[in-house]
Amino acid sequence: MKESIQIDSIIAEPGTTSYGFIDAGEMKDGTSVKIPLAIINGSENGEIIYIQAVSDGDELNGVAVIQHILNTISPKEIRGAIIAVPIANPYAFYYGQSENIVDKKKLNRCFPGDNFGTSSQRIAYSLFYKVVMKAQYCIDLHQCGISPMVDSVNVRISSRHRLHKKCMELARVFGIGYILDQKGPNGQLAQSAPDLLGIPTIDPELGGCLGWDSESIQKGINGIQNVLKYYGFIDSKPAIPEKQIVVKKLQAIYNDRGGFIKYLAKISDIVEYHQPIADICDPFGRTVETIFAPKKGVLWSKSGFPMAFSGSTICLLGTEISYM
Ligand SMILES: [Zn+2]
Repeated sequence: MKESIQIDSIIAEPGTTSYGFIDAGEMKDGTSVKIPLAIINGSENGEIIYIQAVSDGDELNGVAVIQHILNTISPKEIRGAIIAVPIANPYAFYYGQSENIVDKKKLNRCFPGDNFGTSSQRIAYSLFYKVVMKAQYCIDLHQCGISPMVDSVNVRISSRHRLHKKCMELARVFGIGYILDQKGPNGQLAQSAPDLLGIPTIDPELGGCLGWDSESIQKGINGIQNVLKYYGFIDSKPAIPEKQIVVKKLQAIYNDRGGFIKYLAKISDIVEYHQPIADICDPFGRTVETIFAPKKGVLWSKSGFPMAFSGSTICLLGTEISYM
């Protein structure tokens, strides 16, 4: 017999979808702050996948991905269940910035959280122990804030970790074409969930833009659908590219001269050693510096604005390229 799923007061019976909110603390006037949460509980037994967005309050593509999934997937057609949180970090979302306004922390440095800690630590604790813990797979949708970046997936545990293979498999199945395989900073969900709960977790990075970008959103939707099909939530064949690029490191490229940046390569281009990446020019448009690739790499991200102080990160190069 398939069972209902309950998180706080939100209960989804088998074959139904339930929507509700979980507590995330209070405003200065005592008004409750709440995190939206949906449960699509399939009518057949199976595994549970957790999907969240807006861990960083300025990263909105993931919300559109989750809304699409909630609007198009019927509980009648899935095995197992999907638990989705479209806005994980309301205190950052209200202000459209990456950090929580209360404690100035990034939520994605606070997992598994602390029920008696700061605002972000409490949210991380609730999400981790009330929600993520119920799942067998976890997807934490991010993007590079408002700066353009290649649509990619991050695996944030080391290659020696017992779950590394499973996380890489989840990343491959997501099928977005570009994978960063690099241990991340402490407190990331994509590290804490494999570490403490043994759940394969990935951190898709759906480009980077101001507002919503339809191409990155579509790639996110395709990725979730691939995962649902591959792991047996939906009976259908996933569309996974045969060859995807894996990079092991991101190398920041800095400029010596301040000025306007004219990129000579596009996001996702593979640049060779010493290939020109960008010209820096003065206010009159005269080139004052040309920046060359220090090694072979994928142009992973660019500056959101076309001007920079000297010593800025004008782009990231994905290096140590392999394929899977
Ligand atoms: Zn993020």
